[in-house]
Amino acid sequence: MEEVETIIIGAGLSGVACAARLVAQNRSVLVLEARSRIGGRILCPEHQDFFADLGPSWFWPMVNPEVSALVQDLGVKSYPQFEQGLALFETKDGHVQTVSGCPMEPPAFRLEGGMMALVKGLLARGGENCIRLDHPVCEIRRLDHGCRVSVGHLDQPPRCELTASNVILALPPRLAAGSILFTPDLSYDLSQAMLKASTWMAGHAKFFALYDRASWRRLGLSGQAFSQRGPLGEIHDGSGAGDTPYGLTGFAGIPALRRKDEKTMSRDILAQLAQLFGSGAAQPLALYYQDWATEAFTATEYDKRSCHNHPEFYPPGGRTSIWNNTLHFAGTETAGQFGGYLEGALVSARRAAAAV
Ligand SMILES: Cc1cc2nc3c(=O)[nH]c(=O)nc-3n(C[C@H](O)[C@H](O)[C@H](O)COP(=O)(O)OP(=O)(O)OC[C@H]3O[C@@H](n4cnc5c(N)ncnc54)[C@H](O)[C@@H]3O)c2cc1C
Repeated sequence: MEEVETIIIGAGLSGVACAARLVAQNRSVLVLEARSRIGGRILCPEHQDFFADLGPSWFWPMVNPEVSALVQDLGVKSYPQFEQGLALFETKDGHVQTVSGCPMEPPAFRLEGGMMALVKGLLARGGENCIRLDHPVCEIRRLDHGCRVSVGHLDQPPRCELTASNVILALPPRLAAGSILFTPDLSYDLSQAMLKASTWMAGHAKFFALYDRASWRRLGLSGQAFSQRGPLGEIHDGSGAGDTPYGLTGFAGIPALRRKDEKTMSRDILAQLAQLFGSGAAQPLALYYQDWATEAFTATEYDKRSCHNHPEFYPPGGRTSIWNNTLHFAGTETAGQFGGYLEGALVSARRAAAAV
């Protein structure tokens, strides 16, 4: 059985940031990632060197010290969210009117290379070789000294088993409680606390449409739109820092349980973009759509009931480590500050790496 000092479960921002910290201290680390890609909720399909954020797009330098420091440290370029001009408001019956823009406060910034630039930048510092993709963890068993981690599906014999002195759960606690078998049982209170920590944005769907011109800007529009009709509820300019491509991006306004399949949603999104911004908006160079509620390694059934208000996050049951300090919580939903955001993912990674 393979042995390693620390196993990190999940190669989202928190897992990769934990790994980078431990690798920098010459510690032996393995990151087990269920998906066949890195990034978790960070997902940036590439179109001609532009990376379209289908997960997080923004950070807020004024209130995100960890992200800002990482951006600077990695030398990633950031640029402000385009917000100049009027916004649009679409009523339930499809009536569209211009309204004054609603700039974000504090100001939001995007990254050249998309948010994936953070994950790639962290991995480039030496963690690349410790990632194992397509390794869904299904069971964690406490041993006298450390833990045994099984990879695979619970209804089949494990694909592989590994032991480690420390295990870091760098995934949403609700997902961990719902999909990983813990032996011995986690306490009732801890399991409930984990299940109740809703996974931020897991119930949402996001689109990104790319164009060679920003026709809305020429009309004095910021690209920002709010709709009571849908399928999109909120739209923003998603253009790159310089020239093409320009972009519109935003969130479906329809709750997860009522959303249709990707083909139907894409058709309806293009029709709505044309209604708001003119017929050219229905012919993007590329259209991307991601329904996070259908992603088994992000959302659970509980997340399909939309959670629009930002919940208070904290370590589950107040615990940052359990099992005699061998099993540690990371992941943005376990952060005491900025939970749910990229900032929280980095805050939790710093804490978990220090605990190891
Ligand atoms: C649509 C959307 C928009 C957002 N917008 C913003 C924004 O503008 N600004 C902002 O700050 N934040 C935003 N967020 C939140 C941000 O994406 C998260 O805070 C951050 O990415 C969470 O990182 P994480 O590492 O904690 O979790 P995750 O990214 O969820 O990583 C968890 C990892 O664990 C893996 N995993 C799950 N189960 C297993 C298993 N059993 N075995 C092994 N691996 C497993 C997953 O595949 C995943 O890679 C947004 C999120 C979404 C979805």
